[in-house]
Amino acid sequence: MSTHDPEVLLGIDIGGTKCVVAAGRPGGEILAETRLERWTSGSPERDLETLAETTREVMAAASVTAPAIRALGLSAPGPLDPVSGIVHEAPNLPGWVGVQVCERLARALEVPVRIENDANAAALAEWRFGAGRGASSMLFLTMSTGVGAGLVLDGGLHRGHHFLAGEFGHIPVAPGGRACNCGLRGCLEAYTGGAAIATRIREDVAQGEAAGLLERAHGDPARIDARLWIEAVRENDAYAVGIYTEFLDQLAEGLAILVPLLDPERIVLGTIVQRNPDLFLDPLRERVRERIWKFFPGLQILAGELGPRLPALAALAVAALGKVPASRS
Ligand SMILES: [Zn+2]
Repeated sequence: MSTHDPEVLLGIDIGGTKCVVAAGRPGGEILAETRLERWTSGSPERDLETLAETTREVMAAASVTAPAIRALGLSAPGPLDPVSGIVHEAPNLPGWVGVQVCERLARALEVPVRIENDANAAALAEWRFGAGRGASSMLFLTMSTGVGAGLVLDGGLHRGHHFLAGEFGHIPVAPGGRACNCGLRGCLEAYTGGAAIATRIREDVAQGEAAGLLERAHGDPARIDARLWIEAVRENDAYAVGIYTEFLDQLAEGLAILVPLLDPERIVLGTIVQRNPDLFLDPLRERVRERIWKFFPGLQILAGELGPRLPALAALAVAALGKVPASRS
């Protein structure tokens, strides 16, 4: 391998419970990958050492040294600043406030380091390697415990002034509606976030509703989660289907705002939708069609394709970005 033509990418997907470290090629071939479980220590200092050490092990497993590395890409929970490489505050990473993660890892590993928030990184991965391939404008929606989006517009990532573009979960789809974790009311996430749905079901259980769900949880409300809800939808439980219908309606309301604003070629949905495309895709397409202007024909609504490979490829897609974004000033 020529040291003048660095062709290997490194990536770290930094999650609160899991962390994936990978080496791969710009085409998406993964050369080595390691997963850490429950890896945070409460001390960012120690966590950065863990990340550097694990990255060195992955480099050894892929038989590469620093001169062969084009860049290390980080996918991390925000809010963060991709220009200065600082994680402002990561609620799932204890102690991580104002951590200069790019500078620290660049010094420890002697490679260029880039960072994007996890929704942007996932959007880049689906755009480069998955269901967004070849699209000039694509929206990726993380339909997980929370709801976020990564926006690829006119061939590039759109980050926004505060690097917060894509906070799709907190657009108001039902003014004055259900309370959201963010303190507002009627946010999309209050109707479509996995955590919000589980909370809502538990509240209804406490009111004596959702008996079918409580039975599926063996009488323990703490065991109620989005997965159990989906199972109940599949078995046609009337209560679960009611929440499912509202999920689809509110998601379509949100997309009816986004589509005329951004005119995307493709919308790619992750997690809950990706795992259950038969349940969500066609009804969602129909609802969106009913709500948007006729001059947006051919809009494609698809499930993500990367599945379990997404964390590694998201971080590698950040490493593959052409350059570190220019400063705002
Ligand atoms: Zn909200």
